[in-house]
Amino acid sequence: MAPSPIKVFTSALCTTMHTPAYEFLSGAETQYYESPARLEAILHYLESNPSSFEITEHVEDFGYAPIQRVHRQDFLDYLETAYKEWILEGGHPNGVLPATIPHYKVARLGRQTPVNTLAKAGEYCFDLSAVITKDTFKAAWNAAQVTLTATKELVRVAAEYEQGLVEGTGAARSNPPGLYALVRPPGHHAQSDVCGGYCFMNNVAIATQWLIDQPELKRKDGGPKKIAILDIDFHHGNGTQEIFYTTSNPLYTSLHTRDDYPYFTGAEVEIGEGQGVGFNINIPLPQSTTDDEYVAALEKLIQEHVVPYDADYIMVSLGVDTYKDDPIAGFLVTSDAYPRIGNAIRKIGLPTLFVQEGGYCVEKLGVNVGGILQGYLGKTTA
Ligand SMILES: [Zn+2]
Repeated sequence: MAPSPIKVFTSALCTTMHTPAYEFLSGAETQYYESPARLEAILHYLESNPSSFEITEHVEDFGYAPIQRVHRQDFLDYLETAYKEWILEGGHPNGVLPATIPHYKVARLGRQTPVNTLAKAGEYCFDLSAVITKDTFKAAWNAAQVTLTATKELVRVAAEYEQGLVEGTGAARSNPPGLYALVRPPGHHAQSDVCGGYCFMNNVAIATQWLIDQPELKRKDGGPKKIAILDIDFHHGNGTQEIFYTTSNPLYTSLHTRDDYPYFTGAEVEIGEGQGVGFNINIPLPQSTTDDEYVAALEKLIQEHVVPYDADYIMVSLGVDTYKDDPIAGFLVTSDAYPRIGNAIRKIGLPTLFVQEGGYCVEKLGVNVGGILQGYLGKTTA
């Protein structure tokens, strides 16, 4: 039986909003790479392949509660009010950017609580890429709501799939259901109380915690459903790691580059703390990583960590800034690798939600994201 098309959840309320004019990279003012053009390119690919994708703009409002489970309230209040305060105090209309970030060598002895708007920008942001504009809170909020809507559908199709497996009505482990949340701003660099790396609210973490919190979703042993997060963005997902660092559910796994942004996290020795020890798996790879090396590392990660975890759902932080010509990142990975990556994830055999993270080579975004999703459907090309 052929796999069902991948249901795609998106909304212009997140994809087209939040458009800072510029950012600073290597000291230079440059275009803001995390732009609506990225998602337009992906959407264009998906719309051109209607037999593989079913696109909906239906978004449910899950309110504030699932976001508050992951992010601290003072941080959320800051995101909501920062731009207005910034403008009132004469900040540049491009958006809020810190000038002073509490470097750990300074913060070690610092006991001052920041009240100044510029100081708060440093308190709640760890770099110069997460520019807060007038629409940023709304866009991040809607990205979270779209991801939650997709997650609710994941629960429904997963139940159908399990039922089908039991009854032998055509469902097969080789064709697990897949969904995709086409959202921005991305989320995996956003920690519980600090934004950065183009990320403000951690969409994957919010959706994962929501799944764990649903009282009616139980495993046979009575415990909550288990989720394995597979982060395949080029960069380490420091935010997702931090949010779940002390828990055994979810399992967080990440394949990313060594010696690149966010620089200070992503080492193999970051294994979790307390109950979380052993449930945070970082696999840093060299910048020279090729298609074969990447796919081999992914398959090894899946076999050694994801499969033994015995999850109920897979959440994929889908970044394609692994692509060789990405303007801000890039291994030596080519477009040929993406269907192979999707295929490796399909073979886990579990219901999967893909959530968009990074990827900045706009002209190749459609075919690269599409390649992963087509690979998940068992196809060998995008
Ligand atoms: Zn990235």
